[in-house]
Amino acid sequence: MQNFLDRQWSEVLLDLEDSVSAVGLDLWIKKIRPLNIEDDKLIFVVPNVMTRDTILRAYSQPIIEGIYKHFKLENYALILEGEKENYIKEHNLLSTKQNPENLPRAVTNEEQPENPFNPRYTFNNFVIGTTNQIIYAAARSVAEDPGIRFNPLFIYGGVGLGKTHLLHAIGNHAWNFHKGKLKIVYVSCETFANDLIEIFQKGKERGTVEFRRKYRKADILLVDDIQFISNKKAVQEEFFHTFNDLYQAGKQIIVASDRPPKEISELEERLRSRFGSGLVQDIQKPDFETRMMIINKKIELEGYQFDSSVIPILAEKLEKFNIREIEGVLNKLYLFANLHGKMSVDEEITNEVLSKSHELELSVGRVISQDKILDAVCCKFSLKRDELIGRKRNKEFVEPRQICIYLMWKKLNIPLTAISKVFNRDHTTAIHARDKIIDLIKTDEDMKKIVEDLEESIIN
Ligand code: ADP
Ligand code: MG
Repeated sequence: MQNFLDRQWSEVLLDLEDSVSAVGLDLWIKKIRPLNIEDDKLIFVVPNVMTRDTILRAYSQPIIEGIYKHFKLENYALILEGEKENYIKEHNLLSTKQNPENLPRAVTNEEQPENPFNPRYTFNNFVIGTTNQIIYAAARSVAEDPGIRFNPLFIYGGVGLGKTHLLHAIGNHAWNFHKGKLKIVYVSCETFANDLIEIFQKGKERGTVEFRRKYRKADILLVDDIQFISNKKAVQEEFFHTFNDLYQAGKQIIVASDRPPKEISELEERLRSRFGSGLVQDIQKPDFETRMMIINKKIELEGYQFDSSVIPILAEKLEKFNIREIEGVLNKLYLFANLHGKMSVDEEITNEVLSKSHELELSVGRVISQDKILDAVCCKFSLKRDELIGRKRNKEFVEPRQICIYLMWKKLNIPLTAISKVFNRDHTTAIHARDKIIDLIKTDEDMKKIVEDLEESIIN
């Protein structure tokens, strides 16, 4: 029984990663453990009163959804750790022989297609301010009347300003509005990379056929982070044909990018002009008023408690931060307050946390990490992580690997011996890689541009 409960619960936790913040999950939800099933309720043990209250106040809904999906149960109850022994005795738990046939079965949703979009990224949760109202209106319009106006819709703007949120909101809204009848395809940078790898693996012809089958049935095609196709000729080629087919059939195409079409290097001219034929609209950093609204909204969504006097202070001090970073700071503040035994974030906590600005930057991921560099290089060259750090010596792996070593050396301030360990190579290989890229940057314009692009994407 306990195994069954734990196994199903771990499935719920996996699902919750999409709908609950990492802090919420680690600090609260992962602290409870299922103990028993009583009637239609899943009984959990919770370590203390504060966790119990926070869960009940802020995380009931996602937990209920999760246990419905994986346990087929309608509700749950929390008992305190101190009450556990009594509960076990009263319910004769250890001697209960559960007949496996009577256990609720896990529900799978394979038979029925499910809305694949992130439930947190909706129009409702999207705060509209002066910096994003046009794009918001356009996004709503294409979700409700795809293919009519604004086709294609090209959204661009810096990291963490809501592009992915908007694409998912379009997906969610179109899904509900058209009652799941439209085929909505969302592609991210990784999907593109994998598709490209597959085209190569399956041979161009078969790979291409499958690529077409996947994308050309779409009524709405959402493409996130399109800048990553810049140096992928094969994908651009296919994307161009897909684009034309869909466009001519009156289907809606929505594209997000971190820069406008004209600044995406190595983008075929014909694609660039296709993008320009619809609405190209930017999304900017939020102004003060919008930051206030965003902060309030996030607090509400997470079920956090903040003293109201803190909100304008944050909106003022976080001027340079993008929205993802603002969320990071709010999580950190709430965590900090709780660690100090406070239920609400007050000015004292806020000032203390904001004064440690280096730590703050670290906590919101501004500091460049080894992972960030590895991810950026993988994305740029459509490689999987183990291909990048593995031992294969094909040209398509070797050069990205050398670039990666160069970037780590330049950006991380760690010795080459440490870097060579990441790649399981010896020290001299790392020196050779670094020097080769240093030389190439001087003589090869393409290489210079690739490295500059990567440096920029790492800082973002
Ligand atoms: P991008 O794709 O532009 O890098 P995301 O869409 O991933 O950015 O947004 C980063 C975070 O900021 C997400 O958690 C998202 O929900 C939040 N966010 C961005 N814009 C808004 C907004 N206008 N209102 C509420 N949340 C927002
Ligand atoms: Mg994004």
